[in-house]
Formats: sequence, structure tokens, C-alpha cells
Amino acid sequence: MQTIFHYLKTFLHCLLPYTCILCHAPAHSQQDLCHACRIELPILPQSCSRCAKIFTTPLESHLLCGACLQHPPAFDATYALFTYQPPITKLIMELKFHQALVNSRLLGELLADAIQHHWYHNKPLPEMIIPVPLHNKRLRERGFNQAVEMARPIRRLLDIPIDTTTCQRIKYTEPQARLQSEKRHANIKNSFKIMTDLTGRHIAVLDDVITTGGTIEEISKTLKIAGAARIDIWSCARAIIDQQ
Ligand SMILES: [Zn+2]
Ligand SMILES: [Zn+2]
Repeated sequence: MQTIFHYLKTFLHCLLPYTCILCHAPAHSQQDLCHACRIELPILPQSCSRCAKIFTTPLESHLLCGACLQHPPAFDATYALFTYQPPITKLIMELKFHQALVNSRLLGELLADAIQHHWYHNKPLPEMIIPVPLHNKRLRERGFNQAVEMARPIRRLLDIPIDTTTCQRIKYTEPQARLQSEKRHANIKNSFKIMTDLTGRHIAVLDDVITTGGTIEEISKTLKIAGAARIDIWSCARAIIDQQ
């Protein structure tokens, strides 16, 4: 079966060669991105290991930002791939608002590559991926959940199951980034509900972009109350300006 699949893939590749989604040049690896564009992507600079807030001053040995030292968040680590700036902003906007699902495939593949080769050296991988759920109303409006779409290549490449049923979004909320900081907490509070016992589980929560950090904190709190032992946040991008 695998062999047939492999031949079919090779055959399709000859018919439909990979094309860079940024510059439209032929892409030589089995990805929709050329080498020149890949090396230009804004990889996240040195940042807090807990919340991925970008350090503004060079730090010698500090792994945690001041905020995480004072008030440790509910999640245990954050791994974000890029800073939220062009062309990542464009890729994510096109995905969310113009159904560019090819973008989620590429971003998911890049995440899988970082997870496999950089983020988990000698560390156990999470047992399951929970993509941050959308409220059913927003899911109907958009037609898909971008975080689930980004998780699919990770499942395919790293064999980590995606769980879309355990965590439900029960409150329809304004996008956090649009609100003033004092309203964000009330907006997101009690947004999630956990349907099963998670005692002892090591979970990766996947979100497309971390802006305020409020959503990942709220979902992590809820997962920990349900028994989760460890929560790692995976994100395609981290906002440069920390709005917390
Ligand atoms: Zn390119
Ligand atoms: Zn931090």
C-alpha cells in the first residue's frame, strides 16, 4: 500500500510540480517553498522558553522572561517558529480569510520539521495535539479550523494524533487582539470545556499565532484542571509586540 502511495505521489509530482507559494518559482524539495524564500523566513529570535516572548536585550543565561518568573503561566513551554511579520502574516491571513489551505500544509510541514529536528532533542514528544478549537459559529463561517489544518502534516509526518473532541470552545468571543488589555481576560475566560479526563497526559496545544497569550493561558488552565500533566504550546508565529 505504501509503495503504491509512493508511486502515485511521484506520478502526481511529475504532473503537478511543487511551486513556491511566495515567489512562484519551481520548488525543488517536496514542499511548496523554494530554498531562497525559505532562508528569508523570519525565524523567531532568542525568546522566553516558557512563553516565547522575544527578548529585547541580549541575555546570557536567562531562559525565562520577567513575566514568567513572576507569574508562571499554566503551560510549561512554548515553541514558536516565526515572528508574526511578512511574509508569515500574508500566509496566515490568506489561509484564514481566503481558504489558502496550501499555506497550512506548508506551515504544518515547517512546524513538523522544527519539532523533529530542533525543539525536542532528547525530550519526549507530546502524546497528542489539541489544536485551539474555534467556536462552532466561527467554524461554520470559516469552514475549517486553521490550527487543525496546520496539525494535519504534523500528524502525517510525526505520527502524533490530533484530538478535536476533548476540548470544546463554548463561548463565542471577540478576537483578543482587537480588545483593550483590560477586557481580554473577561473575554476569553471560561471559553473552553474539557470533555474527558486528561490525568497524566502530555499535550501539545497548537495555535496559528500567539498575540496576547490570553487564549493559550486560558486553554492551558482548563486542560490542567482536567488533569493534564504537561502542556507544550506549538505555534507558527509569535507577535513581535508583546501586548500582555
Ligand atoms: Zn520562493
Ligand atoms: Zn515568558
